[in-house]
Amino acid sequence: MEDKRTTWVNKPKAWSVSRRTLMEQCPRAWALKYGFARRNTRTFNRILTEVSDWSSPWRLMLRALRGVIIERLELASTGKNWSEKDLASRIRFRIIGSLERQRGTTRIIEKRIGVSSRLKMKVGKQEIARLVEIACHRFNAVMACEPISSILEGKITDWFIADRLEKTSLDRYKLHVAPDIAWRKGRRWHLLRLAMQGGKKPGPEKVLESMSMVLWALSNSGMPVLAERYEVSSLTWNRGSWRKWSMTANDEQVKAATELIKLDMKAMCDLHYRLGPSCDLSQMPLATNSRNCTNCGHIDTCPGGEDLHRARLEQAALEMAKATKS
Ligand code: SF4
Repeated sequence: MEDKRTTWVNKPKAWSVSRRTLMEQCPRAWALKYGFARRNTRTFNRILTEVSDWSSPWRLMLRALRGVIIERLELASTGKNWSEKDLASRIRFRIIGSLERQRGTTRIIEKRIGVSSRLKMKVGKQEIARLVEIACHRFNAVMACEPISSILEGKITDWFIADRLEKTSLDRYKLHVAPDIAWRKGRRWHLLRLAMQGGKKPGPEKVLESMSMVLWALSNSGMPVLAERYEVSSLTWNRGSWRKWSMTANDEQVKAATELIKLDMKAMCDLHYRLGPSCDLSQMPLATNSRNCTNCGHIDTCPGGEDLHRARLEQAALEMAKATKS
């Protein structure tokens, strides 16, 4: 009975681009981050969440950058003042705050493993200053890009920041597919996602990930019900500048995006059943690339964190042995 309940509670119900990306990079890291229903009151769950959320200083910088861009736009939407001279301190505050929180997580891990954690790193003042400088540069550059410059100059008046945590229903699933910025120009609505770093142009799957924003728009009352009335865009930092990509949506693309999401949900459910009620992590495939391990909070406790190649071989051998037995 308890097993059935655990299985039901932990069954994947939500889709987002970050969930999809992590599942592709490492199913085990995905299971550790999203395979257990998050309940803040349970210490185990909270610690697991904190370890799963661990990020390198570089990623914390990107997160801080995204945070201040959204903050800037939120202030603009409410007509509040923005002080340019506070930019560096806002970013520094976010980075230092995250590093401090992560130090607490590292201490918990060290207590458990009894040795020094590989996540432990000294991020000196100079390194923080460098990260802040990079973030300030990217921030100033994005403020000069469309549509943000037109929004700040008041040339685009019909716009808003969507809540990324907002959920859109699809069958029995909840999707996190809201754009960062939505604005209207004439009869057309534009839906844009910001990416703090990425490729110059989106590949076919990335295009479909962007199309998922149309599902959010179509479920919003007051917005057009025809896919063709939307243009999906992304603004991505790539090799020294922000690159904007746009595409007019159509039924076919939106349908393909829906299919992609359903396939992902099926893959997530398959992984969930593989994990089983006893949450057997040895059944979870490991990362395909060791680069993913260097940015993973589980590096100290995961066999892949020590030697990914050997761990993958061992896992394959175990699976083969199991298959011959059955
Ligand atoms: S250390 Fe590597 S293999 Fe292990 S969970 Fe993290 S990314 Fe996956």
